[in-house]
Amino acid sequence: MPPAHPFDDDKLKEECGVFGVVGVENAASITALGLHALQHRGQEAGGIVTHEFGQGFSSARRFGYVRDNFTDAETMATLPGPIGIGHVRYSTSGSKGATQIRDVQPFFGEFSMGGAAIAHNGNITNALALRKELVERGSIFQSSSDSECIVHLMARSMGKSIPDRMEEALRKVEGAFSVVAMTRTKLIGCRDPLGVRPLVLGQLGDGWVLASETCALDIINATFIREIEPGEMVVATTKGVESHFPFRRAPSRFCIFEHVYFSRPDSILGGRSVYETRENIGRELAKENPVEADLVCPVPDSGTPAAIGYSLESGIPYAMGIIRNQYMGRTFIEPSESIRNMGVRLKLNVNRALVKGKRIILVDDSVVRGTTSRKIKEMILEAGAAEVHFRIASPPTAWPCFYGVDTPQREKLLAATMSEEEMREHLAVDSLKFISLDGLYRAVGEASGRDPSAPKYCDACFSGEYPVKPSDMLEKGFEMKAAAE
Ligand code: SF4
Repeated sequence: MPPAHPFDDDKLKEECGVFGVVGVENAASITALGLHALQHRGQEAGGIVTHEFGQGFSSARRFGYVRDNFTDAETMATLPGPIGIGHVRYSTSGSKGATQIRDVQPFFGEFSMGGAAIAHNGNITNALALRKELVERGSIFQSSSDSECIVHLMARSMGKSIPDRMEEALRKVEGAFSVVAMTRTKLIGCRDPLGVRPLVLGQLGDGWVLASETCALDIINATFIREIEPGEMVVATTKGVESHFPFRRAPSRFCIFEHVYFSRPDSILGGRSVYETRENIGRELAKENPVEADLVCPVPDSGTPAAIGYSLESGIPYAMGIIRNQYMGRTFIEPSESIRNMGVRLKLNVNRALVKGKRIILVDDSVVRGTTSRKIKEMILEAGAAEVHFRIASPPTAWPCFYGVDTPQREKLLAATMSEEEMREHLAVDSLKFISLDGLYRAVGEASGRDPSAPKYCDACFSGEYPVKPSDMLEKGFEMKAAAE
């Protein structure tokens, strides 16, 4: 297994990354490169499926990083063909923590009109109900993943083609999905009606590419054509791309956290560079929450663009007060109890000479449980900082995500049980301020902030307003905001 996320216990975990290509010479190698660029979206496992006429479908699914599994000539030779799809996974459903290889995507189904492979990013919020119904009607599931429901729903459809069957299956699915699928000749992409998770279209020579983010197009030198629209299904072949809208049209509710944290800063979302948006978030944060200080320091790496924005807006110098070890791992055994905060020290170290005697503004992207923030604060005070002021580039995360992002249970989210002042006391810092939801909306380009009657993004983890009813979770006793208040 690869090392876990740098702040494994204290960050929302990215969901998954999907990639597909048709009409190229070596689809598997291109898919591996695309998945490598999407590795930040899931490090637990990855898989690739390809098709070659005369040889049929081939697949390889492995635990660990793409670079460790899909670079050797031997493996890649088992994946021939001009069409392929791939998936990198962070488990958000299924057997979390004890994932088996059968849970690793893409999933494959053999239908009367031929085979199809599917890779899904998101989370099906009515998966338990669907699974129960499908099992009662004879479906035999191979995995514990919610995504496998799509394959079984396709098997039950009477549609005449794979895209028709996929369309029918996805109409029964609730929640968030960006799906990339393939038949022998067709590459299919589809986003849920609200477009919660991202999916983009690119062109590579005469071929077509689908990917979760534009950074996966850059690595293969493909041209970014456009984002797949919410509720759109595209079918790409060597002849071109067809598009249609199989679902009832609804206003978009893209995940606002993609702008804050999940997506890579070099990706383009909604026509804007993620880096630029994060810098704007820092500027808004500085306007809303100024404080007198000597240095603005990011919690690396995800806090960096927002810290630069904060510094530019406030005029307070930016500095790398914390240095991240890029080669951190989890394999060390703590040598003694006297070495406190070992986990964080493996990943981060304070730049002592810089912070000594200074009033430091620390900019981080989010506070989830607060455990890492506390440790970082201790380290920076031990290094001689005079004051520590936390500035957070997202509003308080008070609600879990049910749309494909791994969040702790509500009770474990610091902001679910504490006010801002209580959180400040808990973290024992001189000040703690979060960007407001309106400020975040302004930073992503909504000049008048969030329209409470028609918010343009999914912001449920901050607002508790879920754009798609989390049916399975309600069934399990989860209390929505209206009921909780
Ligand atoms: S709940 Fe939060 S993380 Fe989940 S999709 Fe909505 S904004 Fe994104």
